[in-house]
Amino acid sequence: VRVAINGYGVIGRRLADAVAAQTDMELAGVVKVRADYKARLAVEKGYPLYAADEKSRTALKALGVSPRGVADDLISDVDIVVDACPDEVGAANKATYQRLGRRAIFQGGEEHDVAGFSFVAQCNYEAARGRQFVRVVSCNTTALCRVLHSLDGQFGLRRAGVVIARRAADPDETGKGPIDAISLDPVTIPSHHAHDVNTVLPQLKIVTMAIKVPTTHMHLHSLLLSLATPTSEAAVLEALEHTPRLLLITGREGFKSTASVIDYAREKKRSRNDVYEAVVWRDSVRADDSEAYLFLGVHQEAIVVPENVDAIRALCSQVAAAESMRLTNQTLGIAR
Ligand code: NAD
Repeated sequence: VRVAINGYGVIGRRLADAVAAQTDMELAGVVKVRADYKARLAVEKGYPLYAADEKSRTALKALGVSPRGVADDLISDVDIVVDACPDEVGAANKATYQRLGRRAIFQGGEEHDVAGFSFVAQCNYEAARGRQFVRVVSCNTTALCRVLHSLDGQFGLRRAGVVIARRAADPDETGKGPIDAISLDPVTIPSHHAHDVNTVLPQLKIVTMAIKVPTTHMHLHSLLLSLATPTSEAAVLEALEHTPRLLLITGREGFKSTASVIDYAREKKRSRNDVYEAVVWRDSVRADDSEAYLFLGVHQEAIVVPENVDAIRALCSQVAAAESMRLTNQTLGIAR
C-alpha cells in the first residue's frame, strides 16, 4: 500500500516512521510547508519530500533540499493519504482528495463530519472497510475509547464521569500556555471529549470536564465509573489486562507521575520516548460494588500512531483487525 503523509509535524513525523516500518506499506512521500530542519532531516532519512505548494517548493529549494514535486504530484500517485495537518486544514484538504479520487485518513483535530466515520481499531476496525475517508479520533478520545469499550463489554457501563488534566502544549510549542495557572478548558461542562467518545461509542453515557495544566508530557484522566454489574478490583484489573494497547504500571514501583512514564519509555529506548499505550496505574483501581475509579495517562504525541497504521489497513487491505493490530504492535514494540 503506497502511503502519503500530508503534514510533517508532531503526528506526521511519527506516522512517517511508523508507515516506513511496516512490511506491507511503502512511504511514498511526506509533504512539508515550511523550509526548516525537519525538512532536511526527512531527506536525510531517505523520505521522498514534496512541497505543499509552489511557494513552499521555492523556500525548500532555497534551503538546499529539493522537493520531488508538490502535494498534488504525490497524492495522485498513492493509494491513501494520511492527513496530519493542523486542526481544520485537513477539512480544507478534503476537496483535493476528492478531486484526485484518493482515500484519506484525517486526525482528531477535524470534526467527525469531515470523514463521517471516527476510528479506534479495537472498537470499529471492520466497520471502516470500503470507506474512502475515516478520522482517527484525538489522543484523549482514543485512550478513553480503549478503556471504556473494554469495561463496557465486561461489566456494562451505566455512566462514565471523566476529569481530564490536559497538557498545555507539545514540547516544542514554546508560545503556548498557561505557564503559571490551571485553566478551565472550557469553563462549561461537558468538555467536547464526551461528544467525541460518542462518535465511536454512541450508546455510552459519559460526561467529561477538562482543565489545562503547565506540562508538555501527557494528559492525566480521573475516571469515575458506574457499572451495571457489581464487581471487584481483581475483576476490573483482569479486564484491563486483556485490553489491547494498555500498559498497567504501579505507584509502588515508583511511577508517581507522568514524568516517570516518559522516563520509562526513554529507558525502553522507544523512538522519541513514545508511549503508544493507554497507561493505567494498577494501584489506582478501586471497585466498590457498582462503582469503579482509576487514573489513566495519555501520551498525546504517540497514542494515535498505531491507530493510523491500522486505519490504513482497514481501508486498503483485506487484513483482519486482530492481525493488523498484531503487525502494528510488533513493529512499534507494543506488547499487546
Ligand atoms: P503540528 O502543527 O505539529 O503539525 C502539522 C504540520 O502540518 C506542520 O508541520 C505544518 O507546517 C504542516 N502544514 C500546515 N498546513 C499544511 C498544508 N496545507 N499542507 C501540508 N502541511 C501543512 O500538528 P500536530 O500536533 O501534528 O497535529 C496534527 C493533527 O493531529 C491535528 O488534527 C491534531 O488535532 C491531531 N492530533 C494532535 C495531537 C498532539 O498532541 N499534537 C494528538 C492527537 C491528534
